[in-house]
Amino acid sequence: MYIKKQIKGMTPYQPGKPIEEVKRELGLATVHKMASNENPYGAPQEAKQAIQAAAADPEIYPDGYAAELRQAVAEELNVGEKQLLFGAGSDEVILMLCRAMLGPDTNTVMAVPSFSQYKHNAVIEGAEIREIPAVHGEHQLEAMLEAIDENTRIIWVCNPNNPSGAYINEEAFVDFLDRVPENVLVVSDEAYIEYVTAKDYPDTLKLLKEYPNLLLLRTFSKAYGLASLRVGYGIGHEELIQSLDPVRPPFNVTAVAQRAATAALKDRSFIENCREQNKKELEKMTAFCEGQGLDYVPSQTNFLLIHTGVAGSIVFNEMLKKGIIIRSGEALGYPESIRVTIGTEEQNEAFRKTLSEVL
Ligand code: PMP
Repeated sequence: MYIKKQIKGMTPYQPGKPIEEVKRELGLATVHKMASNENPYGAPQEAKQAIQAAAADPEIYPDGYAAELRQAVAEELNVGEKQLLFGAGSDEVILMLCRAMLGPDTNTVMAVPSFSQYKHNAVIEGAEIREIPAVHGEHQLEAMLEAIDENTRIIWVCNPNNPSGAYINEEAFVDFLDRVPENVLVVSDEAYIEYVTAKDYPDTLKLLKEYPNLLLLRTFSKAYGLASLRVGYGIGHEELIQSLDPVRPPFNVTAVAQRAATAALKDRSFIENCREQNKKELEKMTAFCEGQGLDYVPSQTNFLLIHTGVAGSIVFNEMLKKGIIIRSGEALGYPESIRVTIGTEEQNEAFRKTLSEVL
């Protein structure tokens, strides 16, 4: 069978082991998963109820246009309904963007380390990847601008960045947007925006009005607690969104996901509490790092990149044996670091106790 040659050397995405399997293998009663930046407080109650109600009619296809969810998001963000493109997670919106815009004669610019799926999908489409090293986890916007040429189609800006948690402020981002050619799309991936507390984080919804080549990516997987249901979306100019829509698979967001996301949006206090709690717990984590003499990247997210000075895989394995699942920095571009999701108070205490034992 002919498979595109660029796909042959690629490694598929390998998710971590399910918690139940880890418990069985290691004979542990309690395992804390602090690896995928999920919401440790779960999902809003209304969303859970909506899931039960929606699951009652599995024989019916979902609304391919996601009309109810579309209306709810448009109202929440004060954007037009036709400015939204929904996907099975923002992962699928990334895939759709690459499918629609990239090919063998094109290139795409991104920071490295950053979120893996920009490169993954761009490689599949045969595009040239221009990776600009992030310094201390921060995008080097100047160098990214210099990498643009007439074949550049998309620049990926992950703000805050995953896996570092660092962010780009309004002034730097506006200066950057001013200098990107109009025919190059700037994708601002805002998967963790609900956790941001920095006052100078860019007002990207406002900037969207001024820059037709800006597209924002958001998700219900993180603060909204709906990772398992797979729902995310792009926000852009109507014309751009409408021209991307043909690449969207029919019925790509399930009915359960649509209803749950619509209900989750109504619970503003849930998100506010999660943000507050995360901020408090993040501060305790950074104070712990400082106490232990461990370097870390200041984070605007629900995860923290900690430089342990020891191979990330060693720390990962030792922590795993004691029932704490984190991410080794090795696969994330930081060989001597780990990335930990900020969990509940209990999880974070267990993490700190175990890390002090391991290091
Ligand atoms: N962007 C970033 C920066 C992420 O960290 C993630 C999740 N790991 C995604 C996008 C994809 O999220 P989802 O597909 O669950 O919406």
